Amino acid sequence: MSRLELIDENIRTIPEYVPGRSIEDTAKKYGLDPTSIIKLGSNENPLGPSQKAVDAILENASKVHLYPSADAGELVDALSTYLDIPASNICAAGPGMDGLLDNLMRLMIREGDEVIIPIPTFSYYEIAARANGASVVYVQRNQDMTVDIDAIKKAVSFRTKVIFLCSPNNPSGDVISESDIRMLLESFHGLVFVDEAYVEFAEHSVANLAMEYDNLVVGRTFSKIFGLAGLRLGYGIMPSWLKTEYLKVATPFNVSLLALKAGIAAISDKQHIEKSIAMVREGRKYLQEQIPFKVYGSMANFVLVDVSPLSASEVCEALLKKGIIVRDCRSFRGAGSSLIRVTVGTQEQNMRVVEAFRSA
Ligand SMILES: *Cc1c(COP(=O)(O)O)cnc(C)c1O
Repeated sequence: MSRLELIDENIRTIPEYVPGRSIEDTAKKYGLDPTSIIKLGSNENPLGPSQKAVDAILENASKVHLYPSADAGELVDALSTYLDIPASNICAAGPGMDGLLDNLMRLMIREGDEVIIPIPTFSYYEIAARANGASVVYVQRNQDMTVDIDAIKKAVSFRTKVIFLCSPNNPSGDVISESDIRMLLESFHGLVFVDEAYVEFAEHSVANLAMEYDNLVVGRTFSKIFGLAGLRLGYGIMPSWLKTEYLKVATPFNVSLLALKAGIAAISDKQHIEKSIAMVREGRKYLQEQIPFKVYGSMANFVLVDVSPLSASEVCEALLKKGIIVRDCRSFRGAGSSLIRVTVGTQEQNMRVVEAFRSA
């Protein structure tokens, strides 16, 4: 018997999470100066974090010998004011929104349960659900990448515990209408998880529905607009009955002291938030108009490009040689082999990307 058999079959067959490429690896592989490389593969904020968040980290650096509060109450209260949502409906989470997904799956999923995932989408739902024993039912999105709500409804069985929706969707950038989400919430006995990692760049949020429906969880992150991906901070908006249960299984102290302090500072910096949104709206329009391939309409800080008849791998390779990192979407289940996701950068970066696509 191989020791590998100690690990359950459902886990052994989970595809590895494929992260966007790093600047260091790309510099080494292509013999480039790291400072010349632009990283538009992971949807980070090219403006970086708010200076207020950086100051908060520095101010608290010498206090890291202390445990943070177990439930990150100070951050939850600040989020409550920022969102105008009661603190009893908010859970801070770490590491990142991924930590929220982990804790939620640990709470909800038992062997034999099913979850529904419309694909292509963010791959961590599958990993978190399967790691806890779920079987995943995949529902292919429509040709235009919108979610097929009827197909989701048909895929529901008495075993279905959670439906994962991502709005705006990673990697396609489309949003799901509030009426479609209400319809699912009303017709489904389990939980609907709506991932709003990119909500600040869109004009659509269903966060307020978490007080109206007892089966909605909205996931949020500080990794994208707030420029704090390296701190690993997220939060969830959920009905208060679920918050009570969630906190019973969540890892204590999962939000670090520095993440907690930086998060509070980040949401107080309205100027940085507004500047980031304005940059993305303008850059997104520019990329949509200028990239010489089919570009899907996006409400997020990235655009999805279909480079067919070329392949995503050859185009990504050509861009990498020029020091530009974008995301080859082949690792997204159901995405095929001609899709590339490009993060909106600064105007200078966007011009370099467009130029590179033109000569690809
Ligand atoms: C980046 C991202 C996340 C994860 O965010 P973290 O808070 O960094 O874990 C979740 N969902 C989607 C769709 C994302 O793109």
